[in-house]
Amino acid sequence: MMIVMKSTATAEETAAVVERVNRAGARAHVSPGEELTVIGAIGNRERIARLRLEGLPGVDSVVPILKPYKLASSELRHGRASVFEIAGRRVGGPNFALIAGPCTVESREQTLTAAYAVKDAGATMFRGGAYKPRSSPYAFQGLGRAGLRLLAEAKAQTGLPIVTEVLDAREIEHVAEVADVIQIGARNMQNYSLLTEVGLSGIPVLIKRGLSATLDELLLSAEYVLKEGNHAVMLCERGIRTFETAYRFTLDLTAIPVLKQLTHLPVIVDPSHAAGRRELVTPLSLAAAAAGADGIIVEAHPAPDDAICDGPQALPTDGLDEYVAQVQQAAAVAGKALSAVG
Ligand code: PEP
Ligand code: MN
Repeated sequence: MMIVMKSTATAEETAAVVERVNRAGARAHVSPGEELTVIGAIGNRERIARLRLEGLPGVDSVVPILKPYKLASSELRHGRASVFEIAGRRVGGPNFALIAGPCTVESREQTLTAAYAVKDAGATMFRGGAYKPRSSPYAFQGLGRAGLRLLAEAKAQTGLPIVTEVLDAREIEHVAEVADVIQIGARNMQNYSLLTEVGLSGIPVLIKRGLSATLDELLLSAEYVLKEGNHAVMLCERGIRTFETAYRFTLDLTAIPVLKQLTHLPVIVDPSHAAGRRELVTPLSLAAAAAGADGIIVEAHPAPDDAICDGPQALPTDGLDEYVAQVQQAAAVAGKALSAVG
């Protein structure tokens, strides 16, 4: 049972609900939020129902949620989409987020050139990894903290919010200094202690779907972040493993409308990692936007042929404005417009 508190509820009113739940022998889990505080009551459903919590001061509604994920479920918000702000840009609902940038931060010149190109093309956020999850331990692992400093410079110069991945909970405090959105990569989607720590950081999170993860598993991963009171969670479909070998992964477009039914959280699509090939990126992006995605995270590089990683799937930043214009049109089909760049 989820008890949704009114936005005007006081800490005392929340404490009174918790006490009543605990007295009934159930466990209360409070997820405080800026917009909405939710109390999960875990225990005997009938006993909790008999507490008549609806009548208590500060309580907005009591929602029985049958799904294993509670805070992520669309039932929690009665089908209304979550909308939140990231450095002044709105995400979710009618807003379309266009996140672009290189796979990895390589150098000052590459980072700044890419960031300016992304801004000039009209994209809304800049992506770039300082910590890279590589299949081979001998492959480039990212510039680490030096890379974070380059991202900070790109942010200071262009004003674009930064999306960057964290691989290790010990680095969160450093990543938090620059990240407007912390990315949890596909390979870490089920790293539950990392999800909890990122939840506690309070920084918006983009969780990528694991290579072989079901949508329920993705939503349960989001639940780990949400339960720490961090409500700014975006889900990301980035292609899953199938028997097909003609391209890198299979972009699961069906996940977009299905996630929209299951959850109130924004759904972002990564066409780059799904395709693995540059020429597939635009058609997949258009399909995702028209299918109702809340945004796209795409790899773009000033010189893709020289990229340290994921060059074959990167769009050249030269020409990115044309790509953005096309995606904007497809997003409009689904009733969404690019969130304004501040
Ligand atoms: C990335 O965004 O560069 C990345 C490594 O993505 P994924 O975790 O989806 O493979
Ligand atoms: Mn990449």
